[in-house]
Amino acid sequence: MTVTQQEMGCGRIPTKQLAFKALVASGAPALWRWLTQDRVAVLCYHGVSSSSGRPGVWNADGVHVGLDRFEAQMAYLKRRQQPVPLSWLCESLEGSRRLPARAVVVTFDDGLRSVVTRALPVLQKHGIPAALFVVAEAVGGSAPLWTYRLGALIDRLPPGRVTLDRLGQLDLTTLRARRLAFFRVRQRLKLTPAAERADILKAIEHVAGPAIAQEGELLDWEEVRRLAEEGFEIGCHSATHENLTLLSADASWREVAGAKATIEERLGRPVKAFAYPDGFYNERVVEAVRSAGFSLGLTTDPGLNRPAVDPFRVKRLLIGDEDPVAFGVALTGIRVVTSAAAGLGRRLARGWRP
Ligand SMILES: [Zn+2]
Repeated sequence: MTVTQQEMGCGRIPTKQLAFKALVASGAPALWRWLTQDRVAVLCYHGVSSSSGRPGVWNADGVHVGLDRFEAQMAYLKRRQQPVPLSWLCESLEGSRRLPARAVVVTFDDGLRSVVTRALPVLQKHGIPAALFVVAEAVGGSAPLWTYRLGALIDRLPPGRVTLDRLGQLDLTTLRARRLAFFRVRQRLKLTPAAERADILKAIEHVAGPAIAQEGELLDWEEVRRLAEEGFEIGCHSATHENLTLLSADASWREVAGAKATIEERLGRPVKAFAYPDGFYNERVVEAVRSAGFSLGLTTDPGLNRPAVDPFRVKRLLIGDEDPVAFGVALTGIRVVTSAAAGLGRRLARGWRP
């Protein structure tokens, strides 16, 4: 997940908010979406929590959208955009379907229980189709995926400066520092092999004590089947949610083709779409996904999708607790434009170095 300075609470919010208000007032987002109405927005959600806000660390990046905000976002989609099933995107890329203007696809990664308990009733109320990407070997498991466990563990660590095996000293003196520590440790562990990562998590647990990542609870197969019957498209999010670019070709194949076979056997229906875990992919991973028989590969590269997008490099917009105005801007992909513009400005300010 991309983490902005605002999400990390870096104290530059007033300037950003002013810039944001100016952007909305200028009418640029509406104009941009009008100019890009032939592009498809694919939204990436994870969970829906009982209320908005980001208390503590467990939801520091807003991966769990508050129920009230999710409701408002879906109402906005219904009013201003054209929600379509993921399969329509697939068919349009194969040339057998023409998508409506301002088409948008809703997806959920990881297979969290809150998709059934909180998201499903809202989606049904508004008649919005959605797709769910499950981690084949994690479905029905009692342990959450490690990123959710890490958030709960870092929330439980005592305040102050804590020294941990292999991680060194973590600054937990303020909530902002604790969130930064979480983002840094998580980023490091995303690039760490599974066995070593398990040891590091155990070392944190040794100091923090056991932590329950309630919002990280996973669906079981019966619930996934129920979602499929309710009209959800079920996609594959690998077997164990490892960073596929770090695995051997054999291990990566098991994560892709093995997981596809497991989900298809459990559901009795074909699985056509794959979402790269944590958005990590390279040529080899893309080739494995294509060879395993998938028709779509979804990334977390931000942006809208042109009609001729590579079906194995579909971009998605990570959605958090945005209010309807910010959500409307996010749907234009304009955040990408503004951050690219900010990067360009910084480069020009210090002399051009591409
Ligand atoms: Zn994931």
